[in-house]
Amino acid sequence: MGKVLIIGAGGVGGVVTHKCAQVPDVFEEITLASRTIGRCEKIRDQLSRPIGIAAVDADKVAETVALIKRVKPDVVVNVALPYQDLAIMDACLETGVDYLDTANYEPPDEAKFCYKWQWDYQERFKKAGLMAVLGSGFDPGVTNIFCAYAQKHLFDEINTIDILDANAGDHGHPFATNFNPEINIREVTARGKYFEEGKWLKTDPLSVQMTFDFPGIGPKKAYLMYHEELESLAKNIRGVRRIRFWMTFSDNYLKHLEVLQNVGMTGIEPVEFEGHQIVPLQFLKKLLPDPASLGPRTKGKTCIGCLIEGLKDGKPRKLFIYNVCDHQECYREVQSQAISYTTGVPAMIGAMLMVTGVWKGAGVFNVEELDPDPFMDKLNLHGLPWHILEMA
Ligand code: NDP
Repeated sequence: MGKVLIIGAGGVGGVVTHKCAQVPDVFEEITLASRTIGRCEKIRDQLSRPIGIAAVDADKVAETVALIKRVKPDVVVNVALPYQDLAIMDACLETGVDYLDTANYEPPDEAKFCYKWQWDYQERFKKAGLMAVLGSGFDPGVTNIFCAYAQKHLFDEINTIDILDANAGDHGHPFATNFNPEINIREVTARGKYFEEGKWLKTDPLSVQMTFDFPGIGPKKAYLMYHEELESLAKNIRGVRRIRFWMTFSDNYLKHLEVLQNVGMTGIEPVEFEGHQIVPLQFLKKLLPDPASLGPRTKGKTCIGCLIEGLKDGKPRKLFIYNVCDHQECYREVQSQAISYTTGVPAMIGAMLMVTGVWKGAGVFNVEELDPDPFMDKLNLHGLPWHILEMA
């Protein structure tokens, strides 16, 4: 039925490729492109059906344009890094192809992520009659879909949303990040921020915590952080009064992070070292285990969901809508751990809904602006079943 071009052959790119390959009636042709061709070869060799591979530097619009013209995909799935978002969107506009990603644009020289840069493409995509779907991973992605589903079916009025992300996986390393270390550490060391009564309130990094009893995992300490889906949900969920995001970290992870921060290893300003300019965080990334290598060694589960409070039929309602994912089961299926899995499956589902015309539109959309029902059905079918826990 359609052709997909996947850009980025990291942990998430591997899962997207595996999952697209599992649905040959939708994705008849798959091309995986990335900066380092060896990464694409490795993923290609894991699959039981043939795919195309290509080398591309997606920072260079002309290279991506040439690739798109050769491959002629129906949709480009961008699972490279957030730095490439705008360049890939430009290439899609130039070639007339729909676009999907899992993380919002972030300039390389500033630890700041927000949707403004990508929302600014609204008119251009609209005018071109093209669709750009932003943030179709797990968080953002499934968490936004959970909120949209809750708004459509479970509540008449939503008052508060707490997005809770727990990873109880153990990879056996003293310190490693589950996805791109640079992006992960930039996110975790940033100040916390949440939305309340129309205002954005800031907190010091990891200074606010609570304990939540995660289904399938048990009680875990979770820390308030800023996360990109808060920005679009505050805009798109009617009447919501407060939205926060929480993530669990082990004491061991926080101990290492604190030391690395204190000695300046998480900085993003270049420093001169023996005649070379190096960015400490990029150097640290080089030293840390490659997230893709964590797959075979990670045991345990993730639980990510939305704790939502509001009114239904005039009565207060509070529920947790969530998914539990097992690292080892993911590895057995697609040779990746659950963090990449929970991101890659929703990216494939979003692309599937676009290719099959179930999600249609011209312009730039966050996933919660689209119909959540077909997405929720596909989550159950493609490896991320969800559950609703009614709370007292
Ligand atoms: P990785 O670092 O494992 O992979 C990124 C891949 O992109 C690498 O193969 C890298 O190539 C490639 N790449 C980097 N720069 C370029 C470029 N200029 N041109 C072409 N390819 C390039 O990251 P992940 O797979 O863990 O993450 C992928 C994306 O998913 C990120 O944007 C991340 O923020 C997002 N994400 C979203 C989540 C969500 O729930 N929404 C959760 C987790 C991740 P090379 O091998 O040459 O370095």
